[in-house]
Amino acid sequence: MISFDFQYFKPSSVADTVKTYNEVHKQGQQAVIISGGTEFITFARVNKIHADAVIDSKGIPECNVLEKRDDELVIGAAVSLNKITDSNLFPLLGATVKQIADHTSRNKITIGGNINSELIYKESVLPLLLTDAKVKITKGNSVEIVSLTSVFDRKMNLTSGELLLQVIIDASYTSLPYVSLKRTKFSKVGYPVVSAAAIVKDGRLRVAFSGVCDYPFRSDEMENVLNDSSLPVSKRIETAMAHLPSDIVDDLQGSGEYRAFVLKNVLLDVMEEMEMGE
Ligand SMILES: Cc1cc2nc3c(=O)[nH]c(=O)nc-3n(C[C@H](O)[C@H](O)[C@H](O)COP(=O)(O)OP(=O)(O)OC[C@H]3O[C@@H](n4cnc5c(N)ncnc54)[C@H](O)[C@@H]3O)c2cc1C
Repeated sequence: MISFDFQYFKPSSVADTVKTYNEVHKQGQQAVIISGGTEFITFARVNKIHADAVIDSKGIPECNVLEKRDDELVIGAAVSLNKITDSNLFPLLGATVKQIADHTSRNKITIGGNINSELIYKESVLPLLLTDAKVKITKGNSVEIVSLTSVFDRKMNLTSGELLLQVIIDASYTSLPYVSLKRTKFSKVGYPVVSAAAIVKDGRLRVAFSGVCDYPFRSDEMENVLNDSSLPVSKRIETAMAHLPSDIVDDLQGSGEYRAFVLKNVLLDVMEEMEMGE
């Protein structure tokens, strides 16, 4: 049960959403924008979040798009994880999000909610980091398309009231060889001890991780080492481990030592599957 009352709005345009948010804000009240609402409900039930108004972005047409337009794949922020997988428009993204939660939850969980999640995992961002994705966001009363990495650094850095509307991927990336691997502690439905997504573009391996550090990341330093064919694969992996961008997570899902062990094995599997050398 949620212990506080809140107003619920479902605007049908970006302009109405921004207007509603600003009106609630002007009254000194707190508004939360939701897509699937699963995380909001979970946090509200345990009083980890409070809202006077909930603004549901599912009524905004731009947020429900899932289609290839010319040479780009456009995915609305309110599109569910299952729809992305079922569409098969971007097999790596489909495979990665298929490993999040259970099938029923994935009917509700959206890509926009996952990217903006307060949790550390945000696994759906991994394929987007590999493919130089762009995002369509609101900025005040206007809408902008910018590179994902200009607004995503460890987490989405939108200011209060700004919305993620769409992610846009150059379609040429969607047919590249890929691998998506997830290791959990107990069941298949669990937060990742290590999750990795990788592609090979122009003969170079690109790889992004979740569950290793307390944010999802892609590291140039690690990729440079992993692509150094002058070294045996085992040496590349050992050296890459020394280039992790911050400390390895150490929590109930897995100790730092355990995660490091799993990460090494995942990297070995990635290198083997992508035929990156001996
Ligand atoms: C059983 C279970 C297992 C899970 N396992 C994993 C896992 O293994 N890996 C993983 O990555 N995640 C996992 N999750 C977390 C889950 O992915 C997130 O809680 C979920 O993605 C939230 O999606 P939603 O669409 O319901 O978000 P919502 O509840 O709608 O929103 C989540 C957050 O994003 C913000 N937001 C939503 N839409 C927008 C938007 N358009 N613009 C700006 N901000 C927005 C909201 O304000 C809120 O802060 C799991 C969740 C469950 C229930």
